[in-house]
Amino acid sequence: VPGRSLLAINNIEVIYDEVILVLRGLSLEVPTGSIVALLGSNGAGKSTTLKAASGLLPTEHGEITDGSITFDGADITHIDAAERVKRGISLCMEGRHVFEHLTVQENLIAGAYTKGRPSKSDLELVYEYFPRLRDLRSRTAGFLSGGEQQMLAIGRALMAKPTLLMLDEPSLGLAPLLVQEIFGYIERLNAELGTTVFVVEQNASRALAIAHHGYIMEQGRIVLEGSATELRDNPDVKEFYLGLG
Ligand code: ATP
Repeated sequence: VPGRSLLAINNIEVIYDEVILVLRGLSLEVPTGSIVALLGSNGAGKSTTLKAASGLLPTEHGEITDGSITFDGADITHIDAAERVKRGISLCMEGRHVFEHLTVQENLIAGAYTKGRPSKSDLELVYEYFPRLRDLRSRTAGFLSGGEQQMLAIGRALMAKPTLLMLDEPSLGLAPLLVQEIFGYIERLNAELGTTVFVVEQNASRALAIAHHGYIMEQGRIVLEGSATELRDNPDVKEFYLGLG
């Protein structure tokens, strides 16, 4: 049940390489306990929004030049990425980014590093949600299938025990059945662990099927927002994002 705002992005402007203006006054809120979807076409600035919230812009020569971001009531606009993980924000990146040369279990343990030594129960929790990862725990991550790597990436993000789990295109490159499975896991994490989820997706119908609230962005701004039901029923959303026009 959505509560007060956990993440609030207030009118931010983001610039890459000191000249490329990508976010132009973007505002959105992710209420505690909710699943919020951020949708929009290629290049709209969705990944940039997640990077701004997770503190990863500096590694890409990007910076927030206006506006602010608050998490759990505190201003985090300019604090570094590791500190944000400690506070409970975890990002699962597009393209998965697992450590290919490490085993599945080593990847999971690495996911907990900002929180100190992971306990056995942290690993058990991830294995309970993703039983396949337990079977694969000694395998080298680089040899896993795309879907298995995606599960590993989500599992690794969970090892940091996030209150806010952000996911960039979890369905990317996956077969429909696997997409359904991954979205099922995301829904369970939210319902059972109370993890707040902020998900960026190209697959708008899948995302709106699990989300409580959605935002649609174009060219660095939010152009439409509403409950998932409102967005699913909106004729423009149907035509441009759900392919039902
Ligand atoms: P996609 O779904 O294609 O990933 P997106 O909505 O996530 O798109 P972003 O990846 O945030 O969009 O990119 C928004 C714009 O910012 C694009 O025009 C992109 O070329 C540009 N951009 C992204 N990263 C950088 C970077 N590191 N340096 C310069 N420009 C960048």
